[in-house]
Amino acid sequence: MQYISTRSKDKSASKRSFSQILLEGLAPDGGLYMPESYPVVTGQELDKWRSLSYAELAFEILGKFADDIPEKDLKMLAEKTYTPEVYRNVRNDDALDAITPLRLLEEKDGRKLMLLGLSNGPTLAFKDMAMQLLGNLFEYELKRQHAELNILGATSGDTGSAAEYAMRGKKGIRVFMLSPYRKMSAFQTAQMFSLQDPNIFNIAIEGVFDDCQDIVKAVSNDLEYKARQKIGTVNSINWARVVAQVVYYFRAYLMATTGNEEKVSFTVPSGNFGNICAGHIARMMGLPIDRLVVATNENDVLDEFFRTGVYRVRKSEETWHTSSPSMDISKASNFERFVYDLLGQDGERVNGLFRQIETKGFFDLSGQYGSDGNEFPQVKNYGFESGKSTHADRIETIRFVQKEYGITIDPHTADGIKVAREHQRKGVTMIVLETAQAAKFNETIFEALSRNAARPAGFERIEELPQRFTVMPIDDGEVKKFIAERTGL
Ligand SMILES: *Cc1c(COP(=O)(O)O)cnc(C)c1O
Repeated sequence: MQYISTRSKDKSASKRSFSQILLEGLAPDGGLYMPESYPVVTGQELDKWRSLSYAELAFEILGKFADDIPEKDLKMLAEKTYTPEVYRNVRNDDALDAITPLRLLEEKDGRKLMLLGLSNGPTLAFKDMAMQLLGNLFEYELKRQHAELNILGATSGDTGSAAEYAMRGKKGIRVFMLSPYRKMSAFQTAQMFSLQDPNIFNIAIEGVFDDCQDIVKAVSNDLEYKARQKIGTVNSINWARVVAQVVYYFRAYLMATTGNEEKVSFTVPSGNFGNICAGHIARMMGLPIDRLVVATNENDVLDEFFRTGVYRVRKSEETWHTSSPSMDISKASNFERFVYDLLGQDGERVNGLFRQIETKGFFDLSGQYGSDGNEFPQVKNYGFESGKSTHADRIETIRFVQKEYGITIDPHTADGIKVAREHQRKGVTMIVLETAQAAKFNETIFEALSRNAARPAGFERIEELPQRFTVMPIDDGEVKKFIAERTGL
């Protein structure tokens, strides 16, 4: 399997293998890596997969994309990653042996509503599903190349902690994670800062999240420094993260159905379009998905696109801080992957559109035709729908789900359930992806239910653990110096 950039003009030119793109971010032309073609999964294969464990299924699917990693090594990596010990934060009423428990919420008039639990990993958010694999893949690949990597990132909460818990104790890897000092929730802060692993460095910047991101950009733009210090990232455009997420769409389908003639739909609480992009890829591989429903919060860039055909990125003053903060985005960094398929994998056209984003801030596909011959926005063969949820919807949905189904959901998952209920169809099971556990966002739970969210075992007194972090002013020079002193490079 070879990979090409979404912006490549000459498809034969710049092909790369899975291991080559594993440690890279953007392609040199500014595009995102995509497989040259999608591997197709037959009905027969799908039937065979019904009896597999999560780790075995992950091995089968990853093998189709990472065919330059020897099979026995890939098997070892999948088995090491997808264990009940890693994904142990299941709730009392979930099956203990399931990595991704699927729960029936409701069955009414031939409409099933189900919830797929994806947040049982170490940081209680779905990002662990891919990030834990990434940690093991990185360690494996760096060892093979006799190389080392220093990961530099900025976080407002979820991504940073998922990355740190995936990379802690890994050989050849250090993590330097910038976060806004005293701006994360007490729980998120404790989760990150209580890590004592010598390869994890938490840097608390005396500023806001944007300041942290600007420092990362400034450091990365110093190409000489970046090369010498072997700086890399783990952001959501990493292809291996997207592929790892494809696995649970298959898994959910196989758990929800008894035969391959059945179709299911998925609703996905979305920000950077990484999670739902994996659903799109699963469908391109042949998984019988009816609809993929994008759920956004007040930051409705994606909902606007799927309703109107206009993709307009937001300025920072138009980007709201909401009670589902992990979906607070001004643009969706993985969206370009979908647009590439939508336009019949025409790299030149994708290049033109995203250039236009840089100059004008938007592009408009309404009235144009997609590769399926349908006029936009009715791109029927791609089967996308969308909806939006607000703070009031979130609160109401958390209350409703507690009352009707007896479980406490987090605010992001609440956005998903609110939108899913508006898009259910007779005879098609609707599966909502749960993206975090309620304990992570207790403030909103308290507002909705007037009580605290229960915490999984081991998290009860996390705020009281000793913390290890360094406070720094908004100064990329200081960050550079700090990193160089730790790496000795
Ligand atoms: C990251 C995140 C999302 C958004 O996922 P994308 O892949 O960026 O669309 C939603 N909910 C939670 C809890 C997250 O951490």
